[in-house]
Amino acid sequence: MPQAPAKLNAFPVFLRVAGEAVAIVGGGEEALAKARLIGQSSAVLRIIADAPEHELLAFIAANGAVHIAAAYEAPHLEGAVMVFAASGNEALDRRVAEDARRLGIPVNAVDRPELCDFFTPALVNRAPVAIAIGTEGAGPVLAQMLRSRIDRMLSPSLGPLASLAASLRGAAERLLPKGNARRRFWSEFFGGAPARAMEAGQLSQAHDAAVDLLLSNAPASGHIALVGAGPGAEDLLTLRAHRLLMEADVIVHDALVPEAIVAMGRRDAERLPVGKRKGCHTKSQAEINALLIELGRDGKRVVRLKSGDPLVFGRAGEEMAALRDAGIAYEVVPGVTAAFAAAADFELPLTLRGVSSSMVFTTGHDLKGNSLPDWAKLAISGATVAVYMGRSVAAEVAGRLIEAGLSPDTAVAVVENASLANRRRFHGTLADLPSLEVRADLTGPVMTIIGDAVAGANFERSEPLAAHRHEGAAQTAAEGAER
Ligand code: SAH
Repeated sequence: MPQAPAKLNAFPVFLRVAGEAVAIVGGGEEALAKARLIGQSSAVLRIIADAPEHELLAFIAANGAVHIAAAYEAPHLEGAVMVFAASGNEALDRRVAEDARRLGIPVNAVDRPELCDFFTPALVNRAPVAIAIGTEGAGPVLAQMLRSRIDRMLSPSLGPLASLAASLRGAAERLLPKGNARRRFWSEFFGGAPARAMEAGQLSQAHDAAVDLLLSNAPASGHIALVGAGPGAEDLLTLRAHRLLMEADVIVHDALVPEAIVAMGRRDAERLPVGKRKGCHTKSQAEINALLIELGRDGKRVVRLKSGDPLVFGRAGEEMAALRDAGIAYEVVPGVTAAFAAAADFELPLTLRGVSSSMVFTTGHDLKGNSLPDWAKLAISGATVAVYMGRSVAAEVAGRLIEAGLSPDTAVAVVENASLANRRRFHGTLADLPSLEVRADLTGPVMTIIGDAVAGANFERSEPLAAHRHEGAAQTAAEGAER
């Protein structure tokens, strides 16, 4: 049987305090903490303290608070809309609480819930928007944790956006019929062009976009965000990526993006996997481009989610060109690329003073033909090389680099499933690298990093690549024999 939700013993409300007096009795840390909290509002702070500490005095001076520098007496509370007993002295706090009650003013006594008429929330402030978190004393730590989680979810531009909304409310009510049209306007206002302009700090563009939206009957315009999902670990997603995911109508994602990240979208968001795992392309690049254009034309807010960073071996170039040609608005949100995640897993300095001062992102799939690609020359001159999609060409990469003059002893680090709990790390030399191609035990994505800087990594938790060198050779021979 479904359980009825428990009843709240403290009910949240928003109290009008603009220009009203809020009295705080106390001169120490507790009083300062309350002063800072209420100082986020436009109430007039009245601080009753005969011997305030230095920091509180500085706060009073900086915030234009009223200071009553006298021993507390009941008349000091008169006319206030809220009272805080924050003296740190139990007898005094009790007296303050009793006086406040007699005067009919709600009171909060710090750390004495039995004396409190109300509790102060943990506050996420995006004025005029406020989110108040209360736990009825179950735990200030819990409240702070929730606070910081919610704080991360909400753009700093939410405040100015809400102010702009308030200034347009009257016009929207006059110009748009109640119901669907008005709802659609506000949804586009808070999630479309005005919100994006505000996010970019462009107040007047945000205003103009909102007015355009208000005056035009045109359907909502679509927008595509090419978003980096990071290497796999959910908490390596950027805050911006997270926010866009929660706003998206449609999420178009590659196979390498973990389900847990795709699931961060709204429950009613449409999710379209477009494959692109080695060997099983569910959609061609042209089909993906066409899909993005179609969604954009339908007025959808789309997150095109790619593993790592969208601009590193992500074919974002083609998608951006297609969107530009079709006149569809888009933006790019960077992500943590696999090379950086692999380096972090190995505590591997990608640039190392006196050893390596440049780095190459490559696939190793450009090694066909006789000429050495530019990156091989860079490797020989000391660059750190990160090889994406390099497993199937490991032998080719190693062979060509050695042939070109890189020492077979050059250090190599390999990470499978970088950043994830099931990651595996391997270390060895360029001479060991070919073994990678024939290992059947590596099924996740693999990042290979080559160069002298790799020697600076931490090999405590990695396995030697060489252990598989002979096994690999034997397996290749066996495969050969079968054919
Ligand atoms: N845009 C992505 C790269 C896509 S290409 C990025 O910036 O990371 C796909 C290749 O990335 C894989 O073949 C593998 O070499 C690498 N890769 C992606 N995720 C990885 C991970 N968690 N661990 C190791 N390599 C990874």
